[in-house]
Amino acid sequence: MTKKVIVVGAGLAGLAAARLLHRQGLQVQVLEREARVGGRVFSRAFHGRTIECGAQFPSSGYVHMPALLAEAGLSGVPCSPWAAFERAGRWHRIHQNRPLGLWRSGLLRTGEYARLGWGAMAARRAATRFERAGYASYAPVDGEEAQAWCARALGPAAATHVFAPTIHGFYFHPLAGSSRALVQALFAFGDAQALAVPGGWDALARGLAQPLAVRTAAEVSSVRATPDGVAVQLSGERLNADAALIATPAPLARQLLSEPTPQEQALLGTNYAAAIHVALGFAPGWRLPDVLQGVHGFLLGPDCLVASMVVEQARLPCAAPEVLTLMLGDASARQLAGSPDDKVLQQVLSWLRARWPELPGAVVAHQVHRWALAEPLSPPGRARAVRHYRDTLPLARRILLCGDSAGLPWTDGAVDSGLWAAARLVERLS
Ligand SMILES: Cc1cc2nc3c(=O)[nH]c(=O)nc-3n(C[C@H](O)[C@H](O)[C@H](O)COP(=O)(O)OP(=O)(O)OC[C@H]3O[C@@H](n4cnc5c(N)ncnc54)[C@H](O)[C@@H]3O)c2cc1C
Repeated sequence: MTKKVIVVGAGLAGLAAARLLHRQGLQVQVLEREARVGGRVFSRAFHGRTIECGAQFPSSGYVHMPALLAEAGLSGVPCSPWAAFERAGRWHRIHQNRPLGLWRSGLLRTGEYARLGWGAMAARRAATRFERAGYASYAPVDGEEAQAWCARALGPAAATHVFAPTIHGFYFHPLAGSSRALVQALFAFGDAQALAVPGGWDALARGLAQPLAVRTAAEVSSVRATPDGVAVQLSGERLNADAALIATPAPLARQLLSEPTPQEQALLGTNYAAAIHVALGFAPGWRLPDVLQGVHGFLLGPDCLVASMVVEQARLPCAAPEVLTLMLGDASARQLAGSPDDKVLQQVLSWLRARWPELPGAVVAHQVHRWALAEPLSPPGRARAVRHYRDTLPLARRILLCGDSAGLPWTDGAVDSGLWAAARLVERLS
């Protein structure tokens, strides 16, 4: 008889897993609590454009995402290669793919740059030892704290002015307290560029979901093992299956699983950074200041209200009026958690006014979106927990965990964990 698997959560991890299981001939039912698929990949129409409220910098250097895009009949468009960092009140524009771009930008002084270059060479050489999408492979370098390692191996200036804003800008939390494994994983990307998808990244999730049995507005309240399979509880309904895959952020998975194994407990303990996404639309015909022109991403350190800012015209050019999207990092998002959207907007506008006094007056539209669970924190030990889970989970276990708390804290890591869990279930059930 055909074996049945229930996948809880229709984010990219759950969808990638469900597709693999479906291709292997298993009967798959995906249950998603929201009315839409995609989870933290979430595109929205705003001010004449499609903007990304969730994942917005997926990279051409990812391992799995290009194949998923092709499966869904989509292709990614490279965003502008220009990024910018702020040091002592001055912006420095950096071309990501020009070897001397960082030095030419003036962000680092010559000696600081040389120190970074030396350390980066070693880190790049080491990158070949790791699986680019597999956080478990980073376990050997997961024992050291990232800020101390960056300062020692790459120099204190690079730690403060390059890596702290990169980690805060991309992952919304401080470099301090993170694992060296997280920073090491960044060195695998080389010359990769951020990609945009015309029509929005969530077209990928919809495309992946198409051949699958997906029930939306189906919130699962528990998943437990039974003598011959698993029982999944929805409101007023119980579904039975041979196995289940929980593909939700760890704090939500924790609520579903009543008797986790010690390996599962370690993953379920993963905490998340919060974030707030603010989109600002400008008056038609209004031109952004020169320093913002053509720069895709501005990345800022953890002492700053804003973690990153995207110029939409540099992300994906189109004829619509200018739009800026700003992400507030964990500390700011938590501080403003109880505040109304208007207060968030006022804070963002005063942050902008301090840098470009003319900007706030030209804003004619705005939108605020809050993420309580934006991206997993990666303190030392998390890569080792992922490895331990993969290496020691008994094959007999019929409930598997995946998602970005079981992998690298980005889309490709989430997908990698989904594919690993699905392959494991195929092995278990065949
Ligand atoms: C603001 C923001 C910016 C980001 N930027 C980037 C980026 O630039 N590049 C990048 O690669 N990644 C980025 N990420 C991270 C990326 O979005 C995630 O790593 C990835 O999408 C996680 O996928 P997932 O499937 O593990 O989880 P999710 O996408 O969270 O999917 C989990 C799904 O489970 C559902 N669910 C939860 N509980 C239940 C339940 N009880 N019953 C049924 N369904 C349930 C949820 O509704 C959700 O749809 C960003 C994330 C955020 C929030």
